[in-house]
Amino acid sequence: EAKKLGGNRIAYYDANIDAKMQERASLTHHLREALAAEEIGVAYQLIVDSATHEPKGVEALARWTMFDGRVIRPDIFISLAEEGGLIETLGAYVLRRACLDALAWPSFILSVNVSPVQFKNPRFDEMVGQALADTGFPASQLELEITERHLMVEPDIALAAMWRLKERGVTIALDDFGTGYSSIGYLRTFPFDRLKLDRSICADITTSANVQQLVQGTIAIARSMGLKVTAEGIEDEFQAKFLRLAGCEFLQGYFFNRPMPAGEIKPRMLETV
Ligand code: C2E
Ligand code: MG
Ligand code: MG
Ligand code: MG
Repeated sequence: EAKKLGGNRIAYYDANIDAKMQERASLTHHLREALAAEEIGVAYQLIVDSATHEPKGVEALARWTMFDGRVIRPDIFISLAEEGGLIETLGAYVLRRACLDALAWPSFILSVNVSPVQFKNPRFDEMVGQALADTGFPASQLELEITERHLMVEPDIALAAMWRLKERGVTIALDDFGTGYSSIGYLRTFPFDRLKLDRSICADITTSANVQQLVQGTIAIARSMGLKVTAEGIEDEFQAKFLRLAGCEFLQGYFFNRPMPAGEIKPRMLETV
């Protein structure tokens, strides 16, 4: 009897996993078609000066609304693209789209996220160079955002890849700092231009004195190494003020604006310029 129950349980789990896998396979199929039809969108979120709240930069964020109106979150479709062999196409598309959109704006820094899968490709920097050459967007205004995930597997290869990009004139930010295995050591080893404090850490500023000290210390160390610091996910005035006083120069979050389509973000940039 017990054996029979166990057997049933396994069958039940299998059916569940099967349904999940079918759902992912179906989404990947639709993602491939959406990419081919250039139906992936790009939204933009302002990055502002912490003292004046004037826009200083913008982060490009991929967006996907399926043909049936369902909005799929980037966390989901980026990982699908990584597993399904579509991320290089998606990443290259977002980069070109963002460079073209940004040509019509004031000369802000444009930040674009990079997947570890793209970054691992030894020809990644050539793709970036080609996108800049084709669109005419200046390398000095492009910043690429990578995470620790990019660095951990083969640090030497990652370091060489970063230098190739920097030789082309683009800058590099360490994204999502304060999650996972974040370590100050990375800031010493790799030639980052900017540190982005993760939203999860910034959220805890409001409630935790320990996190306040950690954030103050991190910002001080990063700045002493010559890095710019941006804090992500700023949702209220307390966070914004605390970070400004802690020496964080740039802020990004819903308190200032939500990610918006290219056409809506442009007037927001011109307001204070
Ligand atoms: P990320 O690069 O850390 O981007 C910041 C995320 O925080 C965005 O989520 C943004 O909408 C969200 N955010 C900004 N301010 C606030 C706030 O005040 N409160 C809250 N709750 N959220 C805020 P989004 O657009 O859903 O993107 C999630 C992640 O997906 C990104 O995190 C990035 O890792 C990845 N991603 C997005 N677009 C691309 C892309 O084109 N390529 C790659 N490789 N990854 C991308
Ligand atoms: Mg980012
Ligand atoms: Mg981030
Ligand atoms: Mg993130």
